[in-house]
Amino acid sequence: MAVEALRCKECGERYPLDARYVCERCFGPLEVEYDLSAIDASAVRARIESGPASIWRYADLLPFATPPASPLPVGLTPLVRADRLAERLGLGEVWVKNDAANPTHSFKDRVVAVAIAKARELGYSVVACASTGNLAQAVAAHAAAAGLDAYVFIPADLEREKVLATGVYGAKIVAVEGTYDDVNRLCTELSAEREWAFVNVNVRPYYAEGSKTLGYEIAEQLGFELPDRVVCPIASGSMFTKIARAFDELVELGLVARPERGGPIFCGAQAAGCAPVAEAFANGWDVCRPVKPNTIAKSLAIGNPADGPYALELARRSGGTIEAVSDREIVEGIELLAETTGIFPETAGGVTVAVLRKLAEQGKIAPDERVVVLNTGEGLKTLDAIADAVEVVRIEPRLEAFDRAFGLAGAAAS
Ligand SMILES: *Cc1c(COP(=O)(O)O)cnc(C)c1O
Ligand SMILES: [Zn+2]
Repeated sequence: MAVEALRCKECGERYPLDARYVCERCFGPLEVEYDLSAIDASAVRARIESGPASIWRYADLLPFATPPASPLPVGLTPLVRADRLAERLGLGEVWVKNDAANPTHSFKDRVVAVAIAKARELGYSVVACASTGNLAQAVAAHAAAAGLDAYVFIPADLEREKVLATGVYGAKIVAVEGTYDDVNRLCTELSAEREWAFVNVNVRPYYAEGSKTLGYEIAEQLGFELPDRVVCPIASGSMFTKIARAFDELVELGLVARPERGGPIFCGAQAAGCAPVAEAFANGWDVCRPVKPNTIAKSLAIGNPADGPYALELARRSGGTIEAVSDREIVEGIELLAETTGIFPETAGGVTVAVLRKLAEQGKIAPDERVVVLNTGEGLKTLDAIADAVEVVRIEPRLEAFDRAFGLAGAAAS
């Protein structure tokens, strides 16, 4: 196994693989370090292709000495070719990675499966999280499957669908009167007081590794090739940067080649009502200015994103961008994806599709590019967002009533 140590992203100091997340020397964030030089790449590829239909087929590249037992399978979600969406946007080749097809219907199942597996290995019996919604559901479900107690902390104004779909698993739900950033601060304080594994606080380095599996899957599902461009939502910025890391690892192992034109180009997507990373990108800043969120895309509403500087660096280095779209554009993005692919995304998916559309309309995407756009959550989680956009024609149960509403055109055509 290639997993080596935890390493500070700022000063490079190394630490053992336990529950810690911040460098004692410089307070920089820690991440998992691997040594890929001794890996037999063709053996890894064979284990991937013959592995389970879940993220654990990539166990060689995850932070475990042996693949963990994981009772709720996650990942290997569909990568769907979206020709009708491409046509509507005047693009050549568009694929949708549909991560709504996970056990709790968002990409958060990936990060939680890895974090909880590590928490169990480290001997924790209680797991917890600070959540914008989807994480709470994933933690509650995976804790239930593993027989662990779960405490989930959420902003008090979260969507009802997400609260109920968390409580059903028996987790203790703590609704905090404040923003996600207030919830996160409380959890950071609590993590020093309790012997709990907070999946996105004290075991965050392992949690973050779960997002790499999105990158491995996209490459494998394209036949061990990389796309030219990825359009990806940004909350903390962790998933955005880890998809790039996954591609880099596959290139380093020689399992994929860089696209002929270079890249992949990384484009980040935020809601205008909470766009600290897009704002910093537009202004040429290296760090984000914290904001107070006000958007329907609550799952992306992090006002002080931990990985903002790394997301900015990736967008610039790869020739990409980070764009923001209004709530109205988000709803249009939801409808556009649903109408052209049959995939109904939550607000975060609407953000991503709206940014894809914006880039296409600005002529920023070449017609021969292969573009992958991420749908990270299920539309049924955020039904209120489209409540005003859906029209229902109500009639009496009589033929004349139908004809009055819809004319005779339908009857004549059949
Ligand atoms: C959490 C989340 C993201 C992105 O999370 P990062 O913090 O940027 O890694 C994207 N989409 C959905 C639906 C999410 O719940
Ligand atoms: Zn450091």
